[in-house]
Amino acid sequence: MLIVIKPGTPEEQIKSLEGSLKAMGFGIDRSQGEDYVVLGLVGDVRSLNENIIGMNPIVNDVIHVTAPYKRANIQFHPERTVVKVGNHTIGGSELAVMAGPCSVESEAQIVSVAKKVKAAGAQFLRGGAYKPRSSPYSFQGLGEIGLDYLDTARQETGLLVVSELLHIEMIPKFVDKVDIIQVGARNMQNFTMLKELGKVNKPILLKRGIAATMEEWLMSAEYIIAEGNTDVILCERGIRTFETYTRNTLDIAAVPVIKNRSHLPIVVDPSHAGGEWWMVPPLAKAAVSAGADGLVIEVHEEPEKALSDGQQSLKPKKFAKLMEDIEVLANLEGKSIHGK
Ligand code: PEP
Ligand code: MN
Repeated sequence: MLIVIKPGTPEEQIKSLEGSLKAMGFGIDRSQGEDYVVLGLVGDVRSLNENIIGMNPIVNDVIHVTAPYKRANIQFHPERTVVKVGNHTIGGSELAVMAGPCSVESEAQIVSVAKKVKAAGAQFLRGGAYKPRSSPYSFQGLGEIGLDYLDTARQETGLLVVSELLHIEMIPKFVDKVDIIQVGARNMQNFTMLKELGKVNKPILLKRGIAATMEEWLMSAEYIIAEGNTDVILCERGIRTFETYTRNTLDIAAVPVIKNRSHLPIVVDPSHAGGEWWMVPPLAKAAVSAGADGLVIEVHEEPEKALSDGQQSLKPKKFAKLMEDIEVLANLEGKSIHGK
């Protein structure tokens, strides 16, 4: 339920209403602009009589929110969330590009590719130290040392670092070493992990589950926000469908739909969607044109030798060309890339 307060209402009267609602056991999510105050009520509102609330002289309107996600809902937060990371922003006028190899393989590899993606204009280095592989016999990632190598690459290039968390007990180490913590598709509904990530002061890149509806995805974002961490960036990475010619089906409609329903930024990962390097540029361009706030792109200097996802990785030259092309499209969408 949303309670729209009459413009010009003195603060102490709003506080008093908030106090009585809190005393009834509701959580209050206040959204405030220059000329409006909206109180979002979180909890079981079935017992609440909308008419009685509406009779309060400071209340302009009472709106029933039917969607189960509240704090992630654009009705609760008419202003879009802009996540600040270092000197960059995600969800505002910048197109955020997170690029790098699927896996961190060695210090030399990650530092070298970091320099290439930085030169092409990416603001973020993305690489996995812990890999959630479908087969237990596939490369599982370097583990903790991989995070240290990412840290070295960050120091050498100034790029911000994004990496995937697989183990809840590693949260303190991730908070210390990375700039954005990625929750992979396979962990989108690891609710225990999401709750813990809601307590950290670090942006979360929340990938869409392999077969998750947008509502389930937004509910996962809600788990994080409900614990206090509002810096959630959604990432569309394709969903499983009957189609076999792509690794996943890129749901490009997720970009406008999420923007219509949520205030959270959304980025797109064309690499895990298409699954082959040659699909990445057209899918990336489609994502930027659809209004995505950023891209996640796998880049490897020797894809044929990559320990994971080489087939969908762009070589640095192709990545640099793509960056030039998407800059034009980003400008059309009112965004720019200033990573160089
Ligand atoms: C990844 O980002 O490397 C990854 C494993 O992706 P996803 O979780 O989208 O499958
Ligand atoms: Mn990958």
